[in-house]
Amino acid sequence: MVRRKLTTSDIQGIGMTSQRTRNRLIERLRVKNIAHEDVLRIMSKVPRHLFMDEALASRSYEDTALPIGHGQTISQPYIVARMTELLLASEYPLERVLEVGTGSGYQAAVLAPFVKKLYTVERIETLYLHTRELLYALDYRNIHCRLSDGSWGLEPEAPFDGIIVTAAPESIPQALPGQLAIGARLIIPTGAQNQQQELRMMTRLSETEYKTEIIESVQFVPLVSDTNP
Ligand code: SAH
Repeated sequence: MVRRKLTTSDIQGIGMTSQRTRNRLIERLRVKNIAHEDVLRIMSKVPRHLFMDEALASRSYEDTALPIGHGQTISQPYIVARMTELLLASEYPLERVLEVGTGSGYQAAVLAPFVKKLYTVERIETLYLHTRELLYALDYRNIHCRLSDGSWGLEPEAPFDGIIVTAAPESIPQALPGQLAIGARLIIPTGAQNQQQELRMMTRLSETEYKTEIIESVQFVPLVSDTNP
């Protein structure tokens, strides 16, 4: 739980969590071909150290995934940047976006400034409660957290101008493509846990047609489905 009010200096960080350390991460992302200046600018501001356990804060600006408890991880900054870039390259404005797998809330915090309304769903209640409180304390008012199984998408709020999934199912869950608006993109890692996973981008071309591209190899925690084995 976020037990106390966050101060400006908590958010700014110090030493290994300072602006200088954040800037070094941004330089590393540039080297890895992240080129979207607005994404880089936002990521230089988002205090990743507050999205993980204080004990790990000194590693928060390394470009790696790190544990957040419950067997889950905060995504690697590179992949957060890449998935955000892919969504932003859509030719349509992102008014309503769905994230499946809230986790730490870091991906949501990076994406939120680019969208009007961001819905994010998490299936682990403790993470959902913690992250909802953190995002509120950090003043993200356009992020709407929900506790549910995201392999079903979020039908009542569909269609979405983009869907981003930050946990890997073996294949694309059936419910998701139909919740995309025409022209919208689904960014999703797929593949078995002990095998190579691939980041896919599915675009809805029309009512019935979809196009899927493979972007690159990735490693994500599994998308766990409680109701759709
Ligand atoms: N976007 C997160 C990544 C967290 S790891 C971040 O930036 O930190 C992936 C998260 O997906 C975990 O918190 C996990 O509990 C959640 N998850 C796994 N299966 C899910 C499902 N079916 N529905 C919703 N969330 C799920």
